[in-house]
This record gives sequence, structure tokens and C-alpha cells, in this order.
Amino acid sequence: MAVKLLSVNSLAISFGGIRALGGIDFELEDQEILAIIGPNGSGKTTLINCITGIYSPDRGQVIFEQNIRLFNNMTVLDNLMLGRHVKFRKNPFHAVLRIRKEELVHRERVEELIDFLDLHAYRKMRVVDCPYGVQKSVELGRALAMEPGLLLIDEPFAGLTSEEKEETAYRITEIRGKYKTGILLIEHDLRLVSKLADRMIALNYGLKIAEGSPQEVQRNPGVISAYLGNE
Ligand code: ADP
Ligand code: MG
Repeated sequence: MAVKLLSVNSLAISFGGIRALGGIDFELEDQEILAIIGPNGSGKTTLINCITGIYSPDRGQVIFEQNIRLFNNMTVLDNLMLGRHVKFRKNPFHAVLRIRKEELVHRERVEELIDFLDLHAYRKMRVVDCPYGVQKSVELGRALAMEPGLLLIDEPFAGLTSEEKEETAYRITEIRGKYKTGILLIEHDLRLVSKLADRMIALNYGLKIAEGSPQEVQRNPGVISAYLGNE
């Protein structure tokens, strides 16, 4: 049986009497790309915030293999190195030589990421001074530097040009093969994400209204009317 990277059970949370999530269940398998879609306000970001621990749910649980954390505000290179150090922080009493050797390995991995994400031109720039699309790539790189078993991506296409969207879509499919990671992709744009996901779950008003292959979910009458009714 496939390894479950992430299990979400009966997850529920309300804000001042307004239900943001009304009892969500799903599982994500090793190296699977699972997309959570839904119109604005359907609970997608709340779901991510419950998974990362930013919110504590009123009910239910999130069981998952390892912690993911994202940061911001240094040069591109420092950001990627930070991702490595957070993940691979070792005993401070290690011999200097050992630390230098580790440093070289980190550096090598970071150079690979810079290649992979096309960041050469920006390596010495502060992230705040980089174009928005580049900032999104750095964010992705920082997460990948931690070699996570699971990558959470919230609306990676929002605000990108159509060229950047295509590039990002291509990268996401490459990440799975190259870094052997499962991916939970939260996205409002149903069409874009259908091309990437192995499986999709649709939310509306904090409830799961469909789950299945991208084709099944896209065709689901409830999903279609949720999108039509909300936009
Ligand atoms: P999506 O990401 O799908 O657009 P959200 O998860 O951001 O949706 O929001 C779902 C619902 O929860 C909305 O009604 C939103 O107003 C509400 N919500 C989310 N976070 C908070 C919060 N911190 N305080 C109050 N309401 C919130
Ligand atoms: Mg959102």
C-alpha cells in the first residue's frame, strides 16, 4: 500500500460563528500531486493554515510526516542557504572541519536549486527587490532546500504573467520527479491545476463537494455551479 504523507481527519474551524471548514477529510500519498480547488472564500487558505499549525482547528486532526516552514527578506542565495540550515541544523559542538564539509554540501544543493529555478541573475539581489515572479520562485526554492517530503503551495499562479504561469506549472511537475516530494497544491484556477494534479478535491463554503480525477472534478455539476455562483 502507498505511504500516506498526510492525513486530514474531520477538520473543522469557525471564525466568529462563520464556518470556514466544516469537517474535511482527505489523504495525500507519497509523491502525489493533490490539488485543492474552490472559489474565493471556500476555505482553501484556512485549510493550509490548519495543516501548517498557524490555526488550531476546533475539531479534527492533521497527521503528517514532517514540518514545513516558510520565511522572507534577505538575498536569494541567503534565503536558500537558510532553508538548508533550518532543515539540517546539527550539533553546535561538531568539529569545524565537519561543519565546513556540511557547508559545502549545502552550497552544492543550493547551486542546484539556483539552476533548477533559473535564479542566477538574481542571486545577489535582495528578495524584496526581485520581480514578483522571481520572489515566488525563491519561496519555492526555500521550501525545496529543506528537502520536504511534502510541499504545500498556496495559489502559485496568482499574479503571474501567462508565461510565468506556464513555467511554474512545468516546474511543479518536475519537482515531484526530481525531489520525490508529495505536493498539496491550493489553487483557485481550475483549468491550470487540472493539468498538473493527479487528484483534485473541490471545496465550497468549507465543505468538500467533489473528489476524484481532474476530469471528474472539472465536470462535476456542483463544482461548476459553485464557480459560476461565486464569480
Ligand atoms: P480561500 O482561501 O478559499 O479564498 P479562506 O480560507 O481565506 O478562503 O477563507 C474561508 C472563510 O474563512 C472566509 O469566509 C474567510 O472570511 C474566513 N476566514 C479565514 N481566515 C479568517 C480569520 N483569521 N478570521 C476571520 N475569518 C477568517
Ligand atoms: Mg486563499
